[in-house]
Amino acid sequence: MINYPSIIPLSGRCKRLSVDPFEIAVKQLERAVQFMDISDEAVEFLKRPQRILEVTIPVLMDDGTVKTFVGFRVQYNWARGPTKGGIRYHPEETLSTVKALAAWMTWKTAVMDLPYGGAKGGIICNPKIMSERELENLSRGYVRAIYDILNPYIDIPAPDVYTNPKIMAWMMDEYETIVRRKTPAFGVITGKPLSIGGSLGRNDATARGAAFTVREAAKTLKMDLKGRTIAVQGYGNAGYFMAKIMSEEYGMKVVAVSDSKGGIYFDEGLNADKVLEWKMEHGSVKDFPSATNISNEELLKLEVDVLAPSAIENVITKNNADDVNTKIVAEVANGPVTPEADDILREKNILQIPDFLCNAGGVTVSYFEWVQNINGYYWTLDEVHKKLDAKMTKSFYDVYKVSNDKNIHMRDAAYVVAVQRVYQAMLDRGWVKK
Ligand code: GLU
Repeated sequence: MINYPSIIPLSGRCKRLSVDPFEIAVKQLERAVQFMDISDEAVEFLKRPQRILEVTIPVLMDDGTVKTFVGFRVQYNWARGPTKGGIRYHPEETLSTVKALAAWMTWKTAVMDLPYGGAKGGIICNPKIMSERELENLSRGYVRAIYDILNPYIDIPAPDVYTNPKIMAWMMDEYETIVRRKTPAFGVITGKPLSIGGSLGRNDATARGAAFTVREAAKTLKMDLKGRTIAVQGYGNAGYFMAKIMSEEYGMKVVAVSDSKGGIYFDEGLNADKVLEWKMEHGSVKDFPSATNISNEELLKLEVDVLAPSAIENVITKNNADDVNTKIVAEVANGPVTPEADDILREKNILQIPDFLCNAGGVTVSYFEWVQNINGYYWTLDEVHKKLDAKMTKSFYDVYKVSNDKNIHMRDAAYVVAVQRVYQAMLDRGWVKK
């Protein structure tokens, strides 16, 4: 008995969502290849995932019934190496979303020049109403179901929406049980707890990586970040660490933050940890003492030096992009700016750091974790930070240079850099011709 949205046909379009995520991903690709010298056959190849697996997972629930869950794993492109990308647990999960996110992982690993392809997984489930035992059975069942296409050199999952290090630990353990410990299993999954092969620095890696790109973006504008203002939308793992790192390590004034319930403004600058404590206690950042309550919509229109949408997709649209009043938009979230809004921000001369570059710190430290697992030799936090800095800075300038040379959007430039790298690997393998 399935209580969740029914299975989406493999080749079908997602009918429950008004915008089909995979159609957006294909459109972005089609737009970017106009700026490239790439063969039509390669573009056709890149518009499709190389492998899609859909599985059913029976789970014995606490009430004694057996519920069948549906899961997916999409390995989008492996020209550059083993596929890499997170697993999402979501009641509204669809194959189209997983395909789109798998495509974006392909561009993310390529723009960072990691030796990986891209993948994504998902299970249609509501983890908020499941017990820990049910979640463990589901997670282990998923690994048994997709085992044939998992391996440290084939496909390496990681955490994503509503999955965490604990879930990664169960999955790694299940994989190791199946292989009878005959091959080392730590490298099969990243984002694990530190006690079983996790890497130092993985928890704040997304925000820290984004901070490095903001630092470089500011340099290109000859702007000193010290004393400058930043507004952060979203106060989850990415948003909280973004506020903390930008204020404590870069001397910026965090004048506004928000969560799904609303936001706060304080022109003297907020203390990230105190706001987090307040949120834990009261369920929201709202009503934080001495700050003024504002809406999420108001936060996006504040006059600030840096705006960091770090929550959900499609928040800067053609309806509000004209009112955005900042010098840099750091897309810590996935897809926070719509294509129409991209054009408006560019006309306003706002420097955008596109999502799959800005938020690539997470997968980059995942790569470091995998390298450490394979070598059995672990790095200090300082080493992780330095290597992350080098990777983010290099990728920022790879994209910035193409954007300047070709006079195109930073987002289009990020696509050009990423797709070119994947195309080169496909050419070298003889998969496609020039
Ligand atoms: N889920 C994260 C992302 O979308 C991390 C993926 C990974 O670490 O493999 O970038």
